[in-house]
Amino acid sequence: MLNIGCHLSSSDGFMSMSYAAFSIGGNTFQFFLRNPKSGKSIELKKEDIDSFIEFSKKNNFSQIVAHSPYTINLCSSRPNVREFSLKMLSSDIKKMESIPGNIYNLHPGSHTGLGISRAIDFISDSLGKVLSRDCKNTCIVLETMAGKGSEVGSTFDELSDIIKGSGSSPNLGVCFDTCHMFDAGFDFNKLDGILEEFDKKIGIERLKLIHLNDSKNPMGSKKDRHEKIGKGFIDISVFRKIMNHSYLKNLPFILETPNDLIGYAEEILNLKEMIQ
Ligand code: FE
Ligand code: FE
Ligand code: ZN
Repeated sequence: MLNIGCHLSSSDGFMSMSYAAFSIGGNTFQFFLRNPKSGKSIELKKEDIDSFIEFSKKNNFSQIVAHSPYTINLCSSRPNVREFSLKMLSSDIKKMESIPGNIYNLHPGSHTGLGISRAIDFISDSLGKVLSRDCKNTCIVLETMAGKGSEVGSTFDELSDIIKGSGSSPNLGVCFDTCHMFDAGFDFNKLDGILEEFDKKIGIERLKLIHLNDSKNPMGSKKDRHEKIGKGFIDISVFRKIMNHSYLKNLPFILETPNDLIGYAEEILNLKEMIQ
């Protein structure tokens, strides 16, 4: 079954986001658990959670996705930033546990000069703590990154080292962001090869989420600028292959393309027509 939705910028509570997702033909959505500007966490009221669970069951919603705030950087060269990031991550995961069974999408981090291997140690240590202490019924997924600046996590080797270093919890997975991977140099014309490499290095069972985005820049550009599906440098046939691939077709697909709700509704409709 196809599970699709988009990132919703307004975190007005689960019910309004669920209605928005439903209104554009979706059955999942992604949201910020914190206000991106103030960093303030959104309130999860018990009634709101209960109504959401009922609505999502009735309308066959799949897992929903909380996106971590951009201020979290577990491998910053500044110790106070690392400390603060661990605290935020821990409190976010505790919140997620009140809506069990859903996904928390995390950017591995930017090493800001420390170098990749020290960065991986810092990320692994913090993730290991949160996974063993706070995380029972939430899946944390590491997002594949474009590799701009000092971003960590643009190769399967780096992601694999983080997963192993943090203790290989079954609650830790990976999110493919198609724009980021394309910008990092993955050639989606060889999708089977990509999945084979992923399975060998990480294990296909850890692939939990797809961010479906086209890219404003050519393959390998390390830029990370999202484009509407079919309007960027990724060939439209790639999206058709991804959405119909037996390993991928049942995962939640989240669009993070530059669209308003009407644009997302149209994009979702077009993508649904690609399902064979
Ligand atoms: Fe992201
Ligand atoms: Fe993404
Ligand atoms: Zn991005």
